[in-house]
Amino acid sequence: ATPTAITVGVGKAAREGVLFKSAAALEATAGVDTVVFDKTGTLTEGKPAVTDLEPAAPFTPEGLLALAASADRPSQHPLAEAIVRAAREKGLALDQPEGFDSVPGHGVAARVEGRRVLIGNRRLMDREGVKVGGLEERASRLAAEGKTAVYVAVDGQPAGVVAVADVVRESARRAVQALHRMGIRTAMLTGDNRRTAEAVARRLGMDTVIAEVLPEDKATRVRELQAQGRKVAMVGDGVNDAPALAEAEVGVAVGAGTDVAVEAAGVVLVKNDPADVARGIVLARKVRGKIK
Ligand code: ADP
Ligand code: MG
Repeated sequence: ATPTAITVGVGKAAREGVLFKSAAALEATAGVDTVVFDKTGTLTEGKPAVTDLEPAAPFTPEGLLALAASADRPSQHPLAEAIVRAAREKGLALDQPEGFDSVPGHGVAARVEGRRVLIGNRRLMDREGVKVGGLEERASRLAAEGKTAVYVAVDGQPAGVVAVADVVRESARRAVQALHRMGIRTAMLTGDNRRTAEAVARRLGMDTVIAEVLPEDKATRVRELQAQGRKVAMVGDGVNDAPALAEAEVGVAVGAGTDVAVEAAGVVLVKNDPADVARGIVLARKVRGKIK
């Protein structure tokens, strides 16, 4: 093994925007046969926007949005930010929620003007005993379009569905194609619902979808792939992704990600371009070829 080849390889990669934090990270990258991508912020732009408002009687679209945005105001989730932005753009007056409670992987609960508002996924509604009834069909239809449909409930009754969509990155499609040409398998790992995830994965031509995963279970899912003999690179950006990044053979943080993700990763994609995953693997394989 020539340390020189590694040093040269690491330097060349760095100039191309792929930072290998160590020689070990570069060597592990050379052996990868499966790349797992977090969906939001990695495969998509991470700038979701509200696309549909489907209120249940007696709510109006604006009334639904104002309640949802008021409840979600303190949340830092990208979905919450999209909902609050949409309400502001419509000039809706937002209330300061009381007793705000965030349930990771589910959504939030808060009191708005004395009413208890819930906003989140089906799992949150089930957990809180809300019967979504006719809204389920609307949510499924939106999800089949690749949108994330969140339910809103007021005082235990379904109030409507808000759909949020995020643009699929063109570079993500290129990344998936390049990886497949190299014989590497691709998987999506997300907390979002199965239908939405499958619609997005289909657009990108990905092999596998692992959806509806709770934040604390992402690392376990990576471990399961490893137990099947896969050599996994996990690509992510969020705080939620850090344990999974640490668990994988190689954790890859996309540059604009959170410090926690960058910290947990062995490789950082400075240009924030998922296609650089494929470039990094090509480079690592070349260096390994020189070593042996
Ligand atoms: P992701 O993989 O996209 O980071 P999360 O685990 O953060 O997924 O969230 C899973 C699901 O929980 C979201 O798709 C959404 O339905 C719901 N959810 C979580 N947080 C919120 C929130 N603040 N407002 C509305 N819905 C939320
Ligand atoms: Mg995420």
